[in-house]
Amino acid sequence: MSRVIYVNGSYCAYDEAYVHVEDRGFQFADGVYEVCEVRNHRLIDETRHMQRLVRSLNELEIKQPMSLKALGMVMRETVRRNRVRDGLVYLQITRGVARRDFIFPHADNPCSVICLARISSFAKADALAEQGITVITLPDIRWKRPDIKSVSLLPNALAKQQAKRAGAYEAWMMDEDGNVTEGSSSNAYIVSSDGNVITRPAETGILRGITRSVIFDLAEREGIQIIERPFSLNEAEQAREAFLTSATSVVLPVVRINDRTIGDGKPGALASKLRALFHTQAEIAE
Ligand code: PMP
Repeated sequence: MSRVIYVNGSYCAYDEAYVHVEDRGFQFADGVYEVCEVRNHRLIDETRHMQRLVRSLNELEIKQPMSLKALGMVMRETVRRNRVRDGLVYLQITRGVARRDFIFPHADNPCSVICLARISSFAKADALAEQGITVITLPDIRWKRPDIKSVSLLPNALAKQQAKRAGAYEAWMMDEDGNVTEGSSSNAYIVSSDGNVITRPAETGILRGITRSVIFDLAEREGIQIIERPFSLNEAEQAREAFLTSATSVVLPVVRINDRTIGDGKPGALASKLRALFHTQAEIAE
């Protein structure tokens, strides 16, 4: 089946889905994005993803190009036209096309809006979760506003590539104090010996993950305590469990950090439970 991508008002054939070379997304990474999980044709946690999108746009002073209802319709239609049952939908908004200049174009300059959807294999993801994943650690070399979901993702791509080269699934990035910030495309957690989940506060140098916020609600429902505080690599290596979250990987248990085995080297019970229960807590769109 041929893929279709939404570009500025049109659903284009994949080979004809273009933006202009002077798009500010291309020249300055001047744009934001969201990725929602699609499950059984439905969008997962759309409301929270759209709230974060609005926040990212506001932080960068990019005018919201259309209502959230209209953006939701674009996402649904892109999912439908690509016949995605299970996978993801990606929405990107940039400050639009303008003569290359660091100064913003006039506020009336139209944004660029693109949306794509594609399938992913849940069976593969489940197999990965049953096995557990390896992460490596690297210095966090990103800018100081990772709370904005901007398309400026080069440090993240470099980190993920290094992880791949090392045979790992993800790279956990570390701040100058030796504490883990987050993964290149996921949030990071450990479980202490007394069964509490520890994760870095979202106010300090990480993206406030939507999966993370749903995990907080789920943990409260299940009587699991989450403590928001930075944790060091050393503490992570000694932890009972470790795991990561993102919209596309949901919850994945970490069984190895660099050369150190975590716990007994098998996916942790708590991480596996959170993964199994995630969609009982997430918002599933109509
Ligand atoms: N941190 C980073 C740097 C990310 O790119 C992502 C994925 N978008 C996340 C965390 C997880 O966020 P979410 O749960 O909203 O997918």
